[in-house]
Amino acid sequence: MKIWTEEERQRYEAERDAEPYIPGFTWGEFHRLPERQQEHECQKIFQIGASSLGYWKTCSLSPCRRAKACRGFLSEAQAASGRYQRRFPPCIREGTCRQSATLKEMLRLAGEPEEEANG
Ligand SMILES: [Zn+2]
Repeated sequence: MKIWTEEERQRYEAERDAEPYIPGFTWGEFHRLPERQQEHECQKIFQIGASSLGYWKTCSLSPCRRAKACRGFLSEAQAASGRYQRRFPPCIREGTCRQSATLKEMLRLAGEPEEEANG
């Protein structure tokens, strides 16, 4: 059984395309970017959480330490190494331990109520 007509499907896709996705990009605009640029845009956003958590204090990049904020982007070599989550900036470091902390910090900064606060 056909659930959607072609017209409905196109309308849905146009709506999804126009949906705000990350600051500065709609869903469609973001997904049409080359993969490395998508990663760059995501790193830019996660720099906010990484900065707030003070990861720049121990960052190996001097621009981060000077700015007292996460300013780094993964180098091509880091991105190709397979050791980094490519949507996070290098302040998050290799491995996964800082990723969830950064995601939580982003929600906190966005004003989402913390789960613990409800109980
Ligand atoms: Zn850094």
